[in-house]
Amino acid sequence: MLLRRIVPQRRDEIKQYASHRSYKPYLREDFNKRCGYCDADDKFLGASAAFHVDHFAPQRFEERKTDYTNLIYSCRYCNGSKSDYWPSDCSQTSVLKEEGVIDPCEAKYDEHLARNEKGYIYPLTNLGGFIHKLLKLGLTRHSVLWKLQHIESNLDKMDTQIEELSTEQLKIYQLLSSEYRNLISYICEYGNK
Ligand SMILES: [Zn+2]
Repeated sequence: MLLRRIVPQRRDEIKQYASHRSYKPYLREDFNKRCGYCDADDKFLGASAAFHVDHFAPQRFEERKTDYTNLIYSCRYCNGSKSDYWPSDCSQTSVLKEEGVIDPCEAKYDEHLARNEKGYIYPLTNLGGFIHKLLKLGLTRHSVLWKLQHIESNLDKMDTQIEELSTEQLKIYQLLSSEYRNLISYICEYGNK
């Protein structure tokens, strides 16, 4: 299946700021509150405060430091793994001989990486393999976060069908659902501190 459900899209027009950090609220919206690279929902990882503004072409390229088209809403794991990696001397050349990175706002990101039925991210091409290794996309955490999301959407689906459950089933469902949601809110509130 696809690594992400929505390809993030940066807005066309935006005010110019002196610091890349000022763009974070806009990036968060344009990236649907998800890490551009691994698609993790920020609510599981400490929300906006714990997410980073990644420079796709690293900060050594002065001219792209506050260029909105060069910024990516990223979880700290992907940003930390990518660090200031760049394959070339030109800020516009992000891939050289099947090594490099692809801007996640490009639909072709999905031609190189996908997700299996357990939520693990895996490469589809040599370049995908390079990105997978660089960003450590094979980590179990990516599967766990995907599963949490999956459970939530199934619970939401169940919420619309509770009238079809027997009294006993309803009791069990409500207990499971509230236990799960309490755990998640605990993780979201305290688990990242
Ligand atoms: Zn990430």
